[in-house]
Amino acid sequence: KRNLLDLKFYSLAENVGITRMLIASVGAQLDLSLNDIEELKVVVSEAVSNSIIHGYANHPDKLVHLTIEQNPEALKIIVKDEGCGIPDVEQAMQPAFSTDPERMGLGFVFMQSFMDDLQVESAVNQGTTVTMIK
Ligand code: ATP
Ligand code: MG
Repeated sequence: KRNLLDLKFYSLAENVGITRMLIASVGAQLDLSLNDIEELKVVVSEAVSNSIIHGYANHPDKLVHLTIEQNPEALKIIVKDEGCGIPDVEQAMQPAFSTDPERMGLGFVFMQSFMDDLQVESAVNQGTTVTMIK
């Protein structure tokens, strides 16, 4: 079965919870295990939080874009922002790397370990697109 969901929302912390519910509903329709659904919630909220916190420096009126594409072979999740971008993606993806000393630097680690494929495209001052496949 094929399905497509495309959502654009303001960069507000409360929208992270909405994206978690959305991906959980998709996972439930796919008959995924509770564990897999939990992991999808984590990866979506990590990517969306990164756009809000890092990409948009918590400015509340910027747009984050979430696309969920389902086809018989795979579930593809795309999280996109037009924020500050990442100067060195390889470094950003290292475990425990964070530009914020208060943070753990584990978002990309979760995305990498819970999904089958993770791609991060980013350009400074243009934005970041995270594509994940399971
Ligand atoms: P945690 O996710 O554990 O709270 P974190 O967000 O710093 O900490 P990651 O999610 O792994 O860790 O991200 C690593 C770094 O990559 C961030 O500290 C930030 O500098 C950069 N980054 C990630 N996503 C974005 C984004 N959408 N826009 C700009 N920078 C980003
Ligand atoms: Mg993060």
